[in-house]
Amino acid sequence: MKHLFITILLLLPLCRMLAQEREYVIVVHGGAGAMENLEDDKEKSTLYYAALDSALSIGNAILSAGGEGSEAVMAVVNYFENSPLFNAGKGATCTSAGTFELDASIMEGKDLTAGAVAGLKTVKNPINAAYAVKTKTPHVMLAGEGADRFAKSQGLEIVDNMYFATPKTLKWIEDLKKESKKNGTVGCVVLDKQGNLTAGTSTGGMFKKQWGRVGDSPVIGAGTYADNEGCAVSCTGHGEYFIRHVVAYNLSTRVKLLHQPVGEAADYIIHQELNTKEGNGGLIAVDKKGDFAMPFNSGGMFRGYLYKEKGTGKISKAVGIGKKMKTL
Ligand code: ASP
Repeated sequence: MKHLFITILLLLPLCRMLAQEREYVIVVHGGAGAMENLEDDKEKSTLYYAALDSALSIGNAILSAGGEGSEAVMAVVNYFENSPLFNAGKGATCTSAGTFELDASIMEGKDLTAGAVAGLKTVKNPINAAYAVKTKTPHVMLAGEGADRFAKSQGLEIVDNMYFATPKTLKWIEDLKKESKKNGTVGCVVLDKQGNLTAGTSTGGMFKKQWGRVGDSPVIGAGTYADNEGCAVSCTGHGEYFIRHVVAYNLSTRVKLLHQPVGEAADYIIHQELNTKEGNGGLIAVDKKGDFAMPFNSGGMFRGYLYKEKGTGKISKAVGIGKKMKTL
């Protein structure tokens, strides 16, 4: 009896890998919003397509070599955070006080471990601080000054708050009364070769947010969630609504308990529970079979996917801004 139990335990990871229809999958987003016209702007769209393509290639290099999902998510989110194109790290949007406050989170589906940071002011790569909270503390979330100090104590790269500014955001700070905003929160979800799911999200938040405001991105269950038995999810959009609808956990639980296909459940949440007025935005998600979804109810969402087929070894890759996907 005891031997049978041990054999079953040993066979569990193998069963999980056999249920996996794709060897690995990576899905990324670079924020949702009214960017449908960007598709026709050749110069700008080329920049975004190239950035999404680079992010997928970074993840692919790690996953194809057997790297873990968390490694791929961190590398991809770091890349986005260092790019001024997106509302995360350098390029983040500003608060009503003309400052930068950044949020990020990461979660692993194999053991439900998670780390999050909110209101960071000096950490160059907030996702690294979220990962350090997950791996180096008994906590899930650190916020404000304590989070900045903790990141410094961990040897993470520290910058001046104005490092996050770009010529564009500096102009917004000059003229904060003018209505304008920046969409481009970043996220990444992964199914790795080991059959594990990971999700990560990083953002500067919403334009002109009240200083001290925290959105959905660092809230585990709202903007980020991963459970090997459900799915890995990263959200982008009007955070207050994503928190109220506990979107990421809601989706994972529909997959886990109601056995809804990830695409169907994601569409339901984004198009029925949320809508363009109350909960403008979108999400990316992947389940343990390698099925994934990228719905949005806004004009567009920077997004991309890459997966390796089991058996044939064929790699499929595509990026999108508006409704259309561009196969690479
Ligand atoms: N969800 C983010 C927040 O509310 C913003 C975004 O995704 O654009 O902070």
